[in-house]
Amino acid sequence: MRIDVLSIFPDYLAPLELSLPGKARAKGLLELAVHDLRQWTTDKHHTTDDTPYGGGAGMVMKPEPFGAAFDDLGIDGATVIFTTPSGAPFNQEMARELATHDRLVFACGRYEGIDQRVIDHAASRADVREISIGDYVLNGGEVAALAITEAVVRLLPGFMGNPDSLVEESHEDGLLEYPVFTKPAEWRGLDVPPVLLSGNHKAIAQWRHDQAVRRTADRRPDLLHGSAVVGIGDLSDLE
Ligand code: SAM
Repeated sequence: MRIDVLSIFPDYLAPLELSLPGKARAKGLLELAVHDLRQWTTDKHHTTDDTPYGGGAGMVMKPEPFGAAFDDLGIDGATVIFTTPSGAPFNQEMARELATHDRLVFACGRYEGIDQRVIDHAASRADVREISIGDYVLNGGEVAALAITEAVVRLLPGFMGNPDSLVEESHEDGLLEYPVFTKPAEWRGLDVPPVLLSGNHKAIAQWRHDQAVRRTADRRPDLLHGSAVVGIGDLSDLE
């Protein structure tokens, strides 16, 4: 996969060099480039924003720098992601789908957002997605691009040493993950649930499933009825 990120604060994306995306690059699974949008400005102040037509508070990101950047980077056929609080809510299913794409280009907004024509024009050349990482407003799209990149890159085939660890995670089967424990078996007076020490794999799997259902019912009941792995019995046990 190749990922390009366009931002007026490229240093904000330094974590992409670290940890998980860094590892994916080292493994040759990911090619990644962060670009300073200001390199596509033409005035001496490297201006990327202007006042909104129709008036109102704040500034809007100008179309020309994005247009020139898209031309130079060649977005035709790519998937261009505009991070925006008015986008489709990002979730694990979307991460899985995006992980199958060859090329992602992130356009990070600032101020009051990006001139709508940038999005409309990109949509005539590329697969455009407008994605939100939650119902709150950030100052810029960089954190959203980081979050989406991290969620997608860890799903790239060959990235995870043990792919089973992906299968059991929260949101993979529509449930939140069960609680996890490691050594020691007793810590500060708190014991690991005995079933996990029993060596009985069937009982452990049943306990984990019950815990996942219970936790989902407590914290995210909205997910529970959509989960394919919850049987009728599981739900009536909780009622
Ligand atoms: N005026 C915009 C609105 O009300 O929708 C908010 C603009 S916000 C201050 C500036 C930029 O931050 C946005 O263009 C977007 O790129 C990014 N951003 C803010 N919140 C976000 C969210 N929840 N998900 C994704 N991107 C977000």
